[in-house]
Amino acid sequence: MTADRVDVAIGALAEHAFGLLERLVAEPSTIGQEAGAQEVLAEELQSLRFDVTRLEIPESIAEDPAAGVSRNPYAGRYDVIGRRPSAGGGPSLLLNGHMDVVPAEDLSQWTSRPFEPIRRDGWLVGRGAGDMKGGFAAGLLALRALDDTVPGWQRGDLTFVSAIEEEATGNGTLAAGRAGYLADAALLLEPTDLDILLGGIALIWVRVELTGRAGHAEAALHSVNPVRGISSILQALESIEQQLNAEHARGEFADDAFSAIPHPYNVNVGKVHAGDWASSVPSTAWLEVRVGHPRRLASEDAFDLVRSAVLAVTSADPWFSVHPPTVSMSGYRAQRYFQDPDADVVTVLARAHESAHGNLPEQVTIGSTTDARFYLNQFGVPAIAYGPRTRNMHGTDEAVELASIVDCARTLARFLLDWYGTGRTE
Ligand SMILES: [Zn+2]
Repeated sequence: MTADRVDVAIGALAEHAFGLLERLVAEPSTIGQEAGAQEVLAEELQSLRFDVTRLEIPESIAEDPAAGVSRNPYAGRYDVIGRRPSAGGGPSLLLNGHMDVVPAEDLSQWTSRPFEPIRRDGWLVGRGAGDMKGGFAAGLLALRALDDTVPGWQRGDLTFVSAIEEEATGNGTLAAGRAGYLADAALLLEPTDLDILLGGIALIWVRVELTGRAGHAEAALHSVNPVRGISSILQALESIEQQLNAEHARGEFADDAFSAIPHPYNVNVGKVHAGDWASSVPSTAWLEVRVGHPRRLASEDAFDLVRSAVLAVTSADPWFSVHPPTVSMSGYRAQRYFQDPDADVVTVLARAHESAHGNLPEQVTIGSTTDARFYLNQFGVPAIAYGPRTRNMHGTDEAVELASIVDCARTLARFLLDWYGTGRTE
């Protein structure tokens, strides 16, 4: 039976996929440094007979109403696009992953070096192993196993997009879509613990900069320490978070897609910085914040809400009332998205998961976002995410469960056969 042969091939090729994953994790592809990992992937795609294109993100993406605010120039930074056309006449499909990872500069709680992948108790530990290089390993494992066992299985066009900057703006996937790399459906290989991820909330990034007057600490009476503005700003942000989640709990402006999440709209202060010396008064202080928000607010409305709150609390201070902080958008301007679960891509994936694992997968939404929002909101392409099991994404000792990469590939292989009409496995 086809599925059995494919499963055997997946098992036999798993070590190859884990090796690929280790090579990807060993490339520290934080934002701005994606090229090394992208080249590892490009080589793998070529070995799978994809036509590979390197798509540099145009700086003009900044003018796109759906784009995030990028703070890194795009010269030399590109998506890797693989294309495998087919004359089979079946539906087309796009597989998407993001190669960028969040930084791991705070090493104090890591038990190994983040960019030196290490296997431990069936998990592969390293920054990006979970989010989301393990997804690349699973997707390519499924493709290689199908190529080895079911000749001619791909009866429609297949596109693979390895995007950059998903973790800050989404502009990599947006640029690929604007360049025409689309399909009848998109499957994102984000880590979902083998659940089907249907939707994500809206969120923005905001940067607040406070300016004081620098000086020596012994002359602090003549200086103004901008740090003194931060505590009131933190309180203002906290009350925005409380307000948005209280509204959600009361069912006001109800968004049924997220009703199962008790506290979806987190406001996270991710970066705070001021000064360089304990005995000096710093000239500036800044913080960067991620603000999850409901769909009733457009990105600009959510930004106005944050900016007004910051200016309101700081205006009570005699210095800041004359020297108000600068508040700006500094990354995501992500719209809420939700995939209708009746779509074919959901049905076919659920069936594939059930065939591989004996039970229907959970269908979930999250209090964050993925690049699926662009396929759904900007391009009208049905899109879901499905991927391996992970722990501590964005945290210390981030890891992916190796067995779940195999489990994921078993679902994906069945999904691909069914999607392209090559054969359904029951
Ligand atoms: Zn991710």
